[in-house]
Amino acid sequence: MDLFHLLGGGARFDKNRFKNDVHLFEGEKEANQTQSKKKNAAVVDPNVRSQLLDEIDFFKTTHTIVDSNQAKDDKKTAKEDKTASKASKKAKQLSTVFDTVEEAKEFRKQHKIKVYGTDVPNPFRTFEDLASPAYSLDPILYNNLMTAKYTSPTPVQMQSIPIMLHGRDLMSCAPTGSGKTMAFLLPILQDLKKPEKKTSYRALIIAPTRELAQQIAREANHLSQGTKLRINVLTKATAADKSQTPESRQKFDILITTPLRLVYAIKEKEVDLTAVKHLVLDEADKLLDQGFLDQTDEIFAACSSTTIQKSLFSATFSSHVEELANTVMRDPIRIVIGAKNAATETIKQELLFTGTEAGKMIALRQLVQKGIKPPVLIFVQSIERAKELFHELIFDGINVEVIHSDRTKAQRDNIIDQFRVGKIWVLIATELMARGLDFKGVNLVINYDFPQSVASYIHRIGRTGRAGRQGEAVTYYTQEDLQYMKGVVNVMKESGCDVPDWMLNIKNMTSNQKQKMRKGLNRDHIDSTSKYDKYNQNKRKEMIEASKKRKRVASQKEKKAKKEKKTEQKESSN
Ligand code: ADP
Ligand code: MG
Repeated sequence: MDLFHLLGGGARFDKNRFKNDVHLFEGEKEANQTQSKKKNAAVVDPNVRSQLLDEIDFFKTTHTIVDSNQAKDDKKTAKEDKTASKASKKAKQLSTVFDTVEEAKEFRKQHKIKVYGTDVPNPFRTFEDLASPAYSLDPILYNNLMTAKYTSPTPVQMQSIPIMLHGRDLMSCAPTGSGKTMAFLLPILQDLKKPEKKTSYRALIIAPTRELAQQIAREANHLSQGTKLRINVLTKATAADKSQTPESRQKFDILITTPLRLVYAIKEKEVDLTAVKHLVLDEADKLLDQGFLDQTDEIFAACSSTTIQKSLFSATFSSHVEELANTVMRDPIRIVIGAKNAATETIKQELLFTGTEAGKMIALRQLVQKGIKPPVLIFVQSIERAKELFHELIFDGINVEVIHSDRTKAQRDNIIDQFRVGKIWVLIATELMARGLDFKGVNLVINYDFPQSVASYIHRIGRTGRAGRQGEAVTYYTQEDLQYMKGVVNVMKESGCDVPDWMLNIKNMTSNQKQKMRKGLNRDHIDSTSKYDKYNQNKRKEMIEASKKRKRVASQKEKKAKKEKKTEQKESSN
């Protein structure tokens, strides 16, 4: 029996092993700690991990480009041969929009699509291609694309959709804001739309945060409008909702959730996942790096199942993550859109030297004074610093809010909604917000604190310049940050930004430095009160304390005197 079929049944669920998981579900921080403890040593060697962290090399290590023709020359095992010939038959059926392999190759080149793997299906060119008999996209889905004003597909969609329609495993690396969500939703909707006996969830989509899960669900609901397909997001709120039972959930086709919520759902036997045939990891490098594969045996089995089609999407993949993915994927196709290690091209990137920590506050105030075009997103490295910066800016009279994992879910939802509609102009955020969230109008991202990895830089600044729009990103750096800058400088150069020569001469980071960077530098508190004001504040505090003390002593003396007087009076009357 396929191990994955045990997922929903929970037959292999070990109560003891998961006794801490309810608690896990309570908070992201503890969860991450426990997850990392849980990691399977065979899959995640801590030494390998520390060496490879942050190395965004986009598959460059082990793979050579192999197109459909070259693939035929490759040595294959008997099994691979069989799978490949099946796939290539299918590929022929589906590749009628190009007359020759060369045409398809030329088209890929024009759209900066690179493919790695065997028997790679051709891309499609237009949504009309998809609607044509070559792909037979469901008319309702096609209409929904038109309603969404998606007039032409983005490169990641052109190539990912045919690969997924073929049922092939896929690793898809494309810049932030380039339409990856639709690239994985459309082929799944098309496949699930086929008449089939309704069982339960047939697709499972995982995202690192609940905000992102909700955003994916919103897009899935738009794209599937008018179909009978039902989408379900599992959040903490649904865990408390007793009206949702495994039976009532059978009406759903697609489940979208976070890893922690999934672990909880499996543990509580809330969901039946035996019918799942598509698994998508959005922001896959983050999920795999956090140990998604090793969370439970059931999840590992699902990820390595040969009957489930797996797709990984992100703007960044490290060689470490690629190795992890290779342990579970079957003859995957990898695609890379655009230049390796590059941020989205429509983002104007700038590095700004502020000297010290205090210099950052001065730089930010100058920027505000000059006039900024909201909405603006500001990233800092910790919750504490987010709160500190918020206090500074709110006293400056700026329309500012702050979002981090200490805020309640309702507050977080509210803030995101208000930011989307422009009621909040400046939003201060931690890494929680760095991935996936699609705020169309964000004009400027400020990295108040230097990002703690190259991937983090790419994702943070990727909150602007989405879907072909222009955007700006400013990254502050202090004297201390200088030694950690080379990775970011490389990204800027790769994306075509002007970088001064001296920056290109900064030394590459050692693995030790990378680790330090990942932990985050010890930074001075964000507090722009002047030394003189601080001195006066302290003096006033001391004076108040001294006066309180004097009053206390005086009242104690008074009490004592009264007591002595009473005793004297008693004694004299005796
Ligand atoms: P990514 O996941 O690559 O960061 P998203 O999937 O969040 O990007 O998409 C970014 C934005 O682009 C979204 O607002 C989405 O609606 C829009 N979008 C996606 N595909 C298209 C398309 N083909 N044409 C126009 N806009 C699109
Ligand atoms: Mg995304």
